Amino acid sequence: MQSLSKRAEIDEKYRWNLESIYATEADWEKDFIAVAESLPGLEAFKGKLGESGKVLFSCLQRQDKLMLQMEQVGVYAHMRRDEDTTNTPYQALYDRAMGLWSQLGAAASFITPEIVELSDEKLADFFKQEPQLELYRFALEQIMKMKQHTRSAEVEEVLAQTWEVMSGPSNIYDMLTDADFKFGTILNEKDEEVEVTHGRYISYLESQNRRVRQDAFKTLYATYAKYSNTLASVYATSVKADIFGAKVRGYKSSLESSLKPLNVPLEVYSNLLETVNKNLPTLHRYLRVRKRMLGLDDLHMYDLYVPLVAQADRKIPYEEAVETVVKGLNRLGETYVREMATGINSRWIDVYETPGKSSGAYSSGSYTTQPFILLNYQNNLDGMYTLAHELGHSMHSFYTNKNQPFPYANYSLFVAEVASITNEALLTDHLLGQTTDSALRMYLINAELEKFRTTLFRQTMFAEFEYETHRRAEEGEALTPDLLNSIYKELNVKYYGAETVVDEEIAYEWSRIPHFYRAFYVYQYSTGISAAAALSKQIIEEGDPAVERYLQFLKSGSSKYPTDLLKMAGVDMTTPRPVQQALDHFADMVDKFEQMSLQTV
Ligand SMILES: [Zn+2]
Repeated sequence: MQSLSKRAEIDEKYRWNLESIYATEADWEKDFIAVAESLPGLEAFKGKLGESGKVLFSCLQRQDKLMLQMEQVGVYAHMRRDEDTTNTPYQALYDRAMGLWSQLGAAASFITPEIVELSDEKLADFFKQEPQLELYRFALEQIMKMKQHTRSAEVEEVLAQTWEVMSGPSNIYDMLTDADFKFGTILNEKDEEVEVTHGRYISYLESQNRRVRQDAFKTLYATYAKYSNTLASVYATSVKADIFGAKVRGYKSSLESSLKPLNVPLEVYSNLLETVNKNLPTLHRYLRVRKRMLGLDDLHMYDLYVPLVAQADRKIPYEEAVETVVKGLNRLGETYVREMATGINSRWIDVYETPGKSSGAYSSGSYTTQPFILLNYQNNLDGMYTLAHELGHSMHSFYTNKNQPFPYANYSLFVAEVASITNEALLTDHLLGQTTDSALRMYLINAELEKFRTTLFRQTMFAEFEYETHRRAEEGEALTPDLLNSIYKELNVKYYGAETVVDEEIAYEWSRIPHFYRAFYVYQYSTGISAAAALSKQIIEEGDPAVERYLQFLKSGSSKYPTDLLKMAGVDMTTPRPVQQALDHFADMVDKFEQMSLQTV
């Protein structure tokens, strides 16, 4: 096995330019101290925000200035740490930055409650007194909208103190399943005894050896089954906490309490569930193709992840990946592509795996810095797609930072994955248009199908589970292990049962999903991929006007509510249309894939 090159041996142009943030650690230290020393200055505004528009404006400006500086201090520390997680001095830098973040959070915690206390008349007056306050109009509107769900200062203070107890279920869950669970061992493809872990589980499910898949599946769920009383009780408590939070703030349901702060109408949720349900026969068709291609009489739950087409063994060196991604995104216009290429050349990206480097891939940076991307580039198609995905995030941040003032320079999860998945879709369209190599075409289409199955279908099934558990608990039913298992099993029968043997063990899968401790979160993965599918289709079919709308969306940050931002780009998530369009695209891909699979046999 080839050992990894050390960081110092990697050509500078393949390492991100963190020195552009702070040339030396002494410069970082200077900013760190500046933030720490400015905290009392922010706290000095406590109790005074109702005095005048001028005071309110100065306080918000002060907060922004601190946040800006803090973000820069924070991203530098976390990216330095991720370069080599075994480097203790950088670990210390990171720990200090995190500590300062929470101090800043505590120092600023009076601001929102004091704004909510203002009457509408008073706030209107403030805008007249201090015209510069206009900058914060939308941000203040968002806070004021939550007024009806905000309690008296005294109650709010008590509620704030319940936070640690309310996050108990999630902490207990993590401790139990991450720290305490031991799943035991199985025999791998070479008959060696290997331990089943969270991390390895999915790679065992991708094994071409069915015995390995089945053993991993049975071994993993045996542990969840053994602790099902505890797991159910921890989850039921978490649902009760969601319901408590919604009730004390006067929401009609826990679903409403989760969607309303982002101004997402409840129909977005119900449309998603209904539309996906209506299209389940298409999923079943895909499963039928899967069963045939794997040569199985029965498709089991442990047969869902094994790849149908081996990764086309073409090696794609990094330079070639960059060139292909740049060409693949040509549809987004000359400016987009040029600015992206310039970014890549000015060392946005930390390309290669080095000893101790953080695994995976992400996009980061702050308002005052260039975008940064961490990769662990492998010379293959997946690596190239990861590059296109992360560049989507980075270009979104790049355009937003360039066009929005700081208060609107971030974005919520509801829109966060749109730019990245749009890039992937455009790359796929480009590659399919380029190649006649049928193995490559099949690989690309299958990757697309799997992305839709695991994101659009699977996450919607999760969303349906959460909807059902909260609804039943709100109606006073007890969430016993039997009830939770049967709700989840039924959902699997509905989603997969027509073509799959729904093994008993899958009833416990709900207890393996950490996202359920963040209620009504996962549906945004499904709406995100739907919006991206609709937008990329418009970009491909309509050209310039669609590109223009899309770029406007990338430039808009959080200056509007998420559904309004997407409407501006050309997708109305309050109707079932985008989800249906995404599912139509899935159906087309299933057709293509089915035909190709019949030809190659
Ligand atoms: Zn992403």
